[in-house]
Amino acid sequence: MSAHDLLYVVPKSTPPKVVRGEGVYLYTDDNKKILDGTGGAAVSSLGYGNHEVIDSMKTQAEKLCYVHNMSFTNEPAEELAHMLVSKNPDVFARAYFANSGSEAVESALKFVLQYWQLRGQPERCHFVSRKQSYHGNTLFALGIGKMVPRRTPYINVYPKVTSYVDPCYTYRYQKEGETDEQYVYRLEKQLEDEFLVVGPNRIAAFIAETVPGTCLGCTTAVDGYFKAVRRVCDKYDIILILDEVMCGLGRTGTYHAWEQEGIAPDIQTNAKTLAAGYQPISSVLIGHRIFKAFEESNVQMANFHTYQAHPLACSAAVQVQKIVRRDKLVERAAETGKYLGEKLHQTFDSHPHVGDVRGKGLFWGLEFVNDKKTKQWFDPQLKVAALVSKLGIKNGLFLNPGSGTYDGVHGDHIMVAPPYVITKEEVNSLISILSKSIDEAIASLPN
Ligand code: PMP
Repeated sequence: MSAHDLLYVVPKSTPPKVVRGEGVYLYTDDNKKILDGTGGAAVSSLGYGNHEVIDSMKTQAEKLCYVHNMSFTNEPAEELAHMLVSKNPDVFARAYFANSGSEAVESALKFVLQYWQLRGQPERCHFVSRKQSYHGNTLFALGIGKMVPRRTPYINVYPKVTSYVDPCYTYRYQKEGETDEQYVYRLEKQLEDEFLVVGPNRIAAFIAETVPGTCLGCTTAVDGYFKAVRRVCDKYDIILILDEVMCGLGRTGTYHAWEQEGIAPDIQTNAKTLAAGYQPISSVLIGHRIFKAFEESNVQMANFHTYQAHPLACSAAVQVQKIVRRDKLVERAAETGKYLGEKLHQTFDSHPHVGDVRGKGLFWGLEFVNDKKTKQWFDPQLKVAALVSKLGIKNGLFLNPGSGTYDGVHGDHIMVAPPYVITKEEVNSLISILSKSIDEAIASLPN
């Protein structure tokens, strides 16, 4: 038995073993160089092997790797909280640090439930979420989301406190001839109707990814959608949770993706690029409204993880966020993202099997279709996106695939979300390997 077998319960295949990373490239044990076009899972913003981050982690490791956060605080955690909260002091009052995106979402859901308890409305425990959403892998987060393949095995144990409305997914759901205003109005009405069916006094929060990644491959909302969401939430006094685990902290070309929507959330989650993969860490940014209830009641948040506010993880995040700000990497993500978007449109808009090219900043998705005119998807068994990804790796490019069937509609996409430090030459190389890999994948399909 090989060491590889010990890692996977039922190995589907043997993935390449990566031994080193440098800049936007990964290197395997057989010396293959792979451009990481999705920065892992939209994690790597600085690329691999950043010595400033590594050195700051070494310094912190010498000083203090771990301290129990119930009884003590620590320097990097305080600095990170200050950096994040002080960026939007009108919106956020506190920061909480966990270890993964799932834990951040799980914590946000619990903070909201506790908030309503403190406000004397414990019956507000129903969440409204969106179809085709992904909010993480722990049971509560998985239950709130709608990633069918991952959640199905546990279907019998989810709390029956979630209902789902449509996401803003123009390619599939905006009707022919429907204007953006009409589409927004339809979605707004659907959300309001759902609130009224459940009973607004029973609803704790509405949760959405500002730009969904995992299930929907970077579908950007049409103008006015999030303003409408905010309006309906406010009308019924419902908390708005924005999950920016994947799309936040610069990925879409602004520090928070919601800044482009002209609204702000009541509570928000972040993870992936927070420490850019140098350490596992996530955050929940808690808005004033929620914090006030805890402050007024003088009650602690009833949520605790042994490794929360981990000093080494926080020090990596502090250094990553310092570099992002010093080197204006959000602006660079916006600028390179514009170039990447133009190139993707130029290359794939007329491709017979790329139905949709969408995204913003350095967060783009390509949706594959069998028939471009009718938008008919490929047979899900063919796993076209996974095939493109596999051939990409063979050709020296990694792109994260995603697919899923929801309400009888099958989506098949790959995600392009490279590190913020990618150069335009590297973007050109990404596009040409992607093009080659798509064509090879299509050519290999049965007739
Ligand atoms: N929320 C969103 C929006 C995500 O994209 C993800 C991960 N893809 C998660 C939550 C869960 O994060 P993690 O895998 O770090 O637990």
